[in-house]
Amino acid sequence: MEKHIEALLVLLGENPQRPGLQATPKRVAQLLRYLTSGADNSWDQLLKNGLFDSMSQEIILLKNIEFSSLCEHHILPFIGHCHVIPQGKIIGVSRIPRIIDFYARRLQIQEQLTTQIAEGLMINLNPRGVAVIMEAEHLCMTLLRSEKQHARFQTSAMLGLFQDDTEKRNELFHLLNTSPITDKRINDKN
Ligand SMILES: [Zn+2]
Repeated sequence: MEKHIEALLVLLGENPQRPGLQATPKRVAQLLRYLTSGADNSWDQLLKNGLFDSMSQEIILLKNIEFSSLCEHHILPFIGHCHVIPQGKIIGVSRIPRIIDFYARRLQIQEQLTTQIAEGLMINLNPRGVAVIMEAEHLCMTLLRSEKQHARFQTSAMLGLFQDDTEKRNELFHLLNTSPITDKRINDKN
């Protein structure tokens, strides 16, 4: 990969031997490998001893979890936050960012990422419902626009009772707008 990145620098009219660029191919290769390493993990690892049933009918929101991924059209980041609601299951809060990274650390499209997280949770947790809402700024859009306005996109996926039960879905959107648990950031320290 490093050889190809060095060739890319030449195609960009650069001299890869100048001091500022000497370590660049290695750095870019390492970063790209890290940012596409999601599939190295597995659902078995992600859920190990971290899952509990919840009898509660109340909606438990995991709000404003930060995430980043790579747009597969331009290999540039999109960065934002998401809300994840696995209704009927309680999952350790440190697990959710790792589950997001499992799908986000690949070349992605935001809509597909949102659906994959929701479907992955639905299949592997078997909850009564799953809602995933993601909002992100796409650097490819922001950089290409002459006015440099921040382009933000929102995507959502609703499965199970959030798909079938209009009342439950309305309750969810009401909570997202008014919940006192605002801006709860979850840091994955591990
Ligand atoms: Zn893009």
